[in-house]
Amino acid sequence: MNPSVRCFALRSLFALAALAPAGSRAADAPPAVEPVAVAAHIYTFTSTMSVSAALVGDEGVLLIDSGDKPEVAASVQTALAKLTAKPVRLLVNTHWHFDHVNGNETFGALGSTIIGHDRMRERMAAGKTTAVGPGFPTIAFEREALALPSVTFDRELTLHFAGEEVLLVHPAVGQAHTDGDVVVYFKHANVVHLGDLYFQGLYPYIDVGSGGWTGGIIAACREVLARIDDKTIVIPGHGPVSHKAQLEAYVAMLSDISGKVTALIKAGKTLDEVKAAKPTAAYDEGWGKVFLKPDQFTELVYNGIVAHSRK
Ligand SMILES: [Zn+2]
Repeated sequence: MNPSVRCFALRSLFALAALAPAGSRAADAPPAVEPVAVAAHIYTFTSTMSVSAALVGDEGVLLIDSGDKPEVAASVQTALAKLTAKPVRLLVNTHWHFDHVNGNETFGALGSTIIGHDRMRERMAAGKTTAVGPGFPTIAFEREALALPSVTFDRELTLHFAGEEVLLVHPAVGQAHTDGDVVVYFKHANVVHLGDLYFQGLYPYIDVGSGGWTGGIIAACREVLARIDDKTIVIPGHGPVSHKAQLEAYVAMLSDISGKVTALIKAGKTLDEVKAAKPTAAYDEGWGKVFLKPDQFTELVYNGIVAHSRK
């Protein structure tokens, strides 16, 4: 294994863990998770590493993403119990990364139907869930059949649940954050959850090994922007809940940086030369402080564009 790759991944992981609010990571104690209403019947939760969301209705709960470990899933269950005595009937995974699926078995064992993209399930079933990259946590389900999605789809799937029409869409571009991303639209509530296509206020992790690249993320986010309006509640995979304007700013940031890196690659620049050119400089203050640092993000952008230019 390339030591610099491993070191980079470890730093990224620790930075990712640091995204959870202070106080939630005390020695082995399960995080105190509280529901936060973002729209009628729709909630996110405090203190989780990735942003889970729940639609709560008379039939029970539709949950998006299950957290980074079983203990977090249990804490989400406890938080949901404050809202309803009914179970999580449907669990939608936005993609295969550990911090979004490691609670799957907890809900699968309780009878939740798990739903995801065809390729997301393939990656889990093939055992490729062991790591997002070197140094990331492994996913070790004891009963894999309970953790894997039992319902999968390719382009779109509509769920009718709790009076809501929930549209699951795989971006037309195919490869974006990964090759199995799902965007969740709550049509009546006017809420959308983008999973890790959208990091609010943070340079996004890009899973180049799963086909991820900035060109795909930008296209996928533009597809979302075309479907929503100024009142839409926009939920990211990491960071605070926002609106359309913040998603537009994120896309503008990615487009500018991606364009600069593409031009440098076309001019024959090496990775080190691209980093030295500081293509992210105008955005580092706003986006590069908390999670990925400018050089780390530039490397992901570069690697993704190079990987796709070879296709
Ligand atoms: Zn992810």
